Amino acid sequence: MKTIGLIGGMSWESSIEYYRIINEEARRQLGGLHSAQSLMYSVDFEEIEKLQHSGDWETLTQRMVEAAQYLENGGADFVVLCTNTMHKTAVSIQENISIPFLHIADATAEKIVENSIKKIGLLGTKFTMEHDFYKGRLIEQYGLEVVIPNDEGRQIVHDVIYQELCLGKINKPSRLEYRKIMADLVEQGAEGIILGCTEITLLVNQEDSTVPLFDTTQIHAETAVSWALK
Ligand code: GLU
Repeated sequence: MKTIGLIGGMSWESSIEYYRIINEEARRQLGGLHSAQSLMYSVDFEEIEKLQHSGDWETLTQRMVEAAQYLENGGADFVVLCTNTMHKTAVSIQENISIPFLHIADATAEKIVENSIKKIGLLGTKFTMEHDFYKGRLIEQYGLEVVIPNDEGRQIVHDVIYQELCLGKINKPSRLEYRKIMADLVEQGAEGIILGCTEITLLVNQEDSTVPLFDTTQIHAETAVSWALK
């Protein structure tokens, strides 16, 4: 079994989900007392969030590259960055390590394509919904059409992530807001929706949507196990 290197802490509320899923999946596939061989480097999210909102992507890139290098030096066979947003730094991470990097958008897009979906809704932080690093990859590398919520919807989705989910607060009114926003995406023609933030799975599940949901936490963690066992 290969050693999975996880960059966590963004937020730890979702990192524990990764840890749970990789271990459950290893046991499901291998049986007995098997669990996933892994290393996690977990950051202080307060610092990361401040750097994100002040737009200091240079320092953020440095932090992520260092984290990936710690994992490589510690014996990881490949790197899994447990957040969608921080994939804005993915190209630099891969350039500065010599082990593979498992991109969350690739793992997710492959599932979407397998399901013959062409037009996909995307929920995540404003960085993920608005910047090009994520949508661009889905469009250019997988030929998908991507729809995002309107200005107001994007602000709600973003605020719920940082002010509630990353603090472990799961609120019913926010679930109802997300349901409405997802229904709007379906009205815009979305045939499926990416839960493109690793905490959204803590708030909504398939019952909240009329189209298939693509939970990036679940997909990314399961793909990590399939890489580890390959
Ligand atoms: N975990 C979130 C994501 O998947 C947001 C937290 C962060 O900014 O990294 O994008």
